[in-house]
Amino acid sequence: MVRKLAAGNWKMNGTRAALEELQALAQAHSDPAVDILICPPATLLMSAAELVSGHPLDIGAQDCHTAPSGAHTGDISAPMIADCGATAVIVGHSERREDHNESNDLIRAKAESAHAAGLTAIICIGETLAQRDAGQTLDVIADQLQGSTPDGATGVNTVIAYEPVWAIGTGKVPSLEQIGEVHDFIREKLTARFGADNVRTIRLLYGGSVKPANAAEIFAVPNVDGALVGGASLTEADFSPIIKSLE
Ligand code: PEP
Repeated sequence: MVRKLAAGNWKMNGTRAALEELQALAQAHSDPAVDILICPPATLLMSAAELVSGHPLDIGAQDCHTAPSGAHTGDISAPMIADCGATAVIVGHSERREDHNESNDLIRAKAESAHAAGLTAIICIGETLAQRDAGQTLDVIADQLQGSTPDGATGVNTVIAYEPVWAIGTGKVPSLEQIGEVHDFIREKLTARFGADNVRTIRLLYGGSVKPANAAEIFAVPNVDGALVGGASLTEADFSPIIKSLE
């Protein structure tokens, strides 16, 4: 059994006052039975990492550049993220694929850069509603998974997050059968590429409108090893029950 992972993506939310929620989360989970990761905006990375130091919580970033340093105004690199005390980075979130035109090749390069810096890359994949309606879901997932995942992926350095674009921030959630179908498919594809031993430890997260009310039933779906949570990770009151549902 892999250790489950509750990951929170704060997106472009939170000033220093939001660290109170992180503090409350750390206090509420002094000995969690699952891994807990919070990905605040880059402006809070260092303070967040300092705050959770000594607590069983990890901090991650929401994106990184492919290069370790250089003339890339406004970007931050994987070694900089690691230097802040963070241990993970989300790459290929659908909001970045859409807002910043990120391709699978670019996302794979970002994941490789994360690996080289000793970070875990949380690689996001997921279909749009139009793609689902056109019956293309598994083709899109196969393409994004193959194209965005580095050859050096292991259970230590890589997590895959299945996030249907149409479920993110919308309150719409796929049926449990739909989630199960895609997670089983991702597991099969990873097994074919990386072999059964390694792939069992690559965690597969579901993301898209996970809330305290629906978390337990989603986590009971086979091959769901945790969640990547947006809106409901912003407060301890919402995120704690989701974490508890995983335990
Ligand atoms: C996300 O941003 O990764 C996400 C899943 O958002 P939400 O939980 O708000 O749908």
